[in-house]
Amino acid sequence: MRAWIDSLPKAELHVHLEGSVTAETLCEIDPSLTIESARAGYVYSDFAGFLQSFAFAAKRLTTPEHYALAARRLFAALERQNVRHVEVILSAGVVLWKGQDLAEVWRALQSVPAPFPVVWNLDAVRQWGIEKAWEVVTMASSLPRDGVVMSFGLGGDEAGGPARDFDGVYRSAQRHGMRLTCHAGETCGPESIWGALEIGAERIGHGIRAIEDPVLVEHLAKHAIPLEISILSNVRTGAVPSLATHPIRKLFDAGVPVTLNTDDPALFGSCLGDEYEVAWREFGFNQEELAQIAENGFRYAFNKENAK
Ligand SMILES: [Zn+2]
Repeated sequence: MRAWIDSLPKAELHVHLEGSVTAETLCEIDPSLTIESARAGYVYSDFAGFLQSFAFAAKRLTTPEHYALAARRLFAALERQNVRHVEVILSAGVVLWKGQDLAEVWRALQSVPAPFPVVWNLDAVRQWGIEKAWEVVTMASSLPRDGVVMSFGLGGDEAGGPARDFDGVYRSAQRHGMRLTCHAGETCGPESIWGALEIGAERIGHGIRAIEDPVLVEHLAKHAIPLEISILSNVRTGAVPSLATHPIRKLFDAGVPVTLNTDDPALFGSCLGDEYEVAWREFGFNQEELAQIAENGFRYAFNKENAK
């Protein structure tokens, strides 16, 4: 089964660049780190600790070349997994917070050759407030795209920044031709997902807690609003209490378009094949169903003419 999964052409719609930097690559980027200290920085026991591990990696990307190296390594890893379409989340909010020039980071990232189409999701840190998100969207909309599809999203601490607060920011991103996604329903409940939908999110990052609201599940299915699910992320950050309680099977069976993604492969010690394998092993998804999930990844990709 694993060989079949590995050979299946897959799309990755939700991977954070900073969360894809392995401890080994982080040591190359920051030679003052030992491999032991780099690995220790990736140890956490809850969602708050996970965000700290993410920051541990992100704050060491201090030059545009560091970002380019991270992208080169990520693209190579995904190519080995037979991934044919990639949407990478860049925490643009963190780039600006570090005082870096987003345009230079963007230029470095665009110089990295990719063996597949790449959509870039520029993400603001929701708990830092609306003004910081405006800075991200203003900067992002001024970047040269040369045909590259860009999307906008919110990440960080869901409880610290309700999506509805960012309505104007999302409208602006949309006016500037960006597609819209939003982390929601990962650590907060269905209300957070409703908020993300109200501000125009076309896909939902995680969205697993939709399962607590049957009306919302029906809405997602009826309007074909895809969820960017990452089972192993949800288990490892504690977003679900246990693997057995993950709602992916219930969401899929209810007709919600489900996709599988890695989220932060270096922080979870996972790859995209692992996500498909756990869906098969723990939730009984057969080959036909896994192929449908993989197909969803291409169908709901932001480089397609599928805007609602
Ligand atoms: Zn994420």
